[in-house]
Amino acid sequence: NRSQYRAMIGQESVTTDGKPIRLYANIGTPSDIASALENDAEGVGLFRTEFLCLGRRTIPDEEEQFKSYKEACRLMGGRPIIIRTLDLGSDKQSELLNLPQEKNPALGFRGIRIGLTHPELFSCQLRAIYRASVCGNLSILFPMITSVREILQIKKLIRSVQDELTKRQIPWRSCPIGIMIETPASALLSDELAGEVDFFSIGTNDLTQYTLAMDRQNGSLDSFYDPYSEAVMKEIEITVRNGHRYGCQVGICGELAADTAVTDRLLKMGVDSLSVSPHMILPVRKAIRESCTDPVPAF
Ligand code: PEP
Ligand code: MG
Repeated sequence: NRSQYRAMIGQESVTTDGKPIRLYANIGTPSDIASALENDAEGVGLFRTEFLCLGRRTIPDEEEQFKSYKEACRLMGGRPIIIRTLDLGSDKQSELLNLPQEKNPALGFRGIRIGLTHPELFSCQLRAIYRASVCGNLSILFPMITSVREILQIKKLIRSVQDELTKRQIPWRSCPIGIMIETPASALLSDELAGEVDFFSIGTNDLTQYTLAMDRQNGSLDSFYDPYSEAVMKEIEITVRNGHRYGCQVGICGELAADTAVTDRLLKMGVDSLSVSPHMILPVRKAIRESCTDPVPAF
């Protein structure tokens, strides 16, 4: 089986009816790039930057973040990298910020909510990303979006970071910006959100958790938790349709992207890219090459 996947190295990720699908890797730190490249990733579709904070007592400062993003660019050598801004809170390292204990952390202070409440922290990361933007092919992705208002606030902060860098004569490049579609609100509002951004990345882990109202980490719900829920499939369909109508590319970066049992179905819905753990790239490439985006097979 391993050799059948090894044979996928160097092959194109293209469906039987000729649609190229971008097949990217999910990483947590630049050190994951080695295995992404070994498995022939075409880019990094999700750089979970909160992993840079793992096991630490403080959040890395601008210089340290800049070095990590620059290193990722160097290792990827011009291939696209989608950097997601810190998605702290809920289950991930919320103690770093001295946040108050919450009764429902998954429904609480996490993701972009922390960034917009602590603009100095958020701008520090944006500065590090824009400084690294001249070193590679970077896009920026924002987690846990629920409204157009949040995007407008983000864009305002982006503009002020860009103005500041320009004033200080630090070179930067403009980067495509995208949002995670991982709340039911964002899937339902995807027509309005699409007008504000360049791409969508569907986070099926949280989207499933919030759509089914089931804690993704609560093992005692396993018999109820359905990763193939038709409710989530419908949200993916709505998101792709709305994204495409307004010129947004739509990818999936949650676990569902790596599930080869649904690759054909996801591609038939029109999904443009899949981002998966490095070890799943080759199996998913094989599944893409056996899929057809045309609902009516040609005879
Ligand atoms: C998701 O929610 O599907 C996702 C990709 O983000 P994370 O797993 O980091 O929450
Ligand atoms: Mg998520």
